[in-house]
Amino acid sequence: MSGSLTVVGLGPGNPDQMTPEALAAVAAAEDFFGYFPYIDRLNLRPDQRRHASDNREELARARAALEMAANGGKVCVVSGGDPGVFAMAAAVCEAIDEGPVEWRSIDFSVVPGVTAMLAVAARAGAPLGHDFCAISLSNNLKPWKIIEKRLIAAAEAGFVMAFYNPVSKARPHQLGDAFALLRRHLPGEVPVIFGRAAGRPDETIRIVPLSEAESGMADMATCVIVGTAETRIIEREGQRPIVYSPRSFKGAGT
Ligand code: SAH
Repeated sequence: MSGSLTVVGLGPGNPDQMTPEALAAVAAAEDFFGYFPYIDRLNLRPDQRRHASDNREELARARAALEMAANGGKVCVVSGGDPGVFAMAAAVCEAIDEGPVEWRSIDFSVVPGVTAMLAVAARAGAPLGHDFCAISLSNNLKPWKIIEKRLIAAAEAGFVMAFYNPVSKARPHQLGDAFALLRRHLPGEVPVIFGRAAGRPDETIRIVPLSEAESGMADMATCVIVGTAETRIIEREGQRPIVYSPRSFKGAGT
């Protein structure tokens, strides 16, 4: 008998930013797979079982979850933010794609969540108000050359960019290299937003011009949004400025 597997997005960290659909999916499941800080966020009942694991084991975790679902389990795989954005939903899809044919009959669904760039953008104003893209700066799963190519293409095409996985201990120089590259393709006054731990008690939001942006301003819990020549800053007395990208294209920087 085949069971179910639901991949659920828990949002950026604030319980208020978890959707009612995600709460219902968690209440309906019996076995939970995920990176342990995400499992820790759930108020599981005594009858619900935790299978927490380390962050680097996505494919093994996806396979273990599918195996349990194939044996009739009501399984939930959790991700922070949205599970389809640099997270577990694609890992589960890859495992199904490469796995035994029985896994295709599992009742599989994905429940979306508020992804980090949306939580950070909301704190800053509306920096994603015009066309934008999301890029993971981690070169664990793709070469740095490809990342550089995408950064240049996005800058030249006028996309606002949201960077996920901007730095890690193993990759201390990449964000600085990305800023140096972007300074050759974008004006120095383009606003850069460093949104750290959005929605959590230790949240910080910092806004600097691209000319002053440094990798030390970000850590692994930061989503970095780089505007375009069209992105505007509204200064406010005694309050953080508002950053927004106007809906209509005026041709700045082209
Ligand atoms: N699925 C997640 C992203 C996982 S990749 C989502 O949709 O948000 C991990 C990266 O997400 C981190 O390195 C950081 O860049 C970003 N991130 C996750 N939670 C965040 C938060 N609360 N505030 C800012 N950035 C966050």
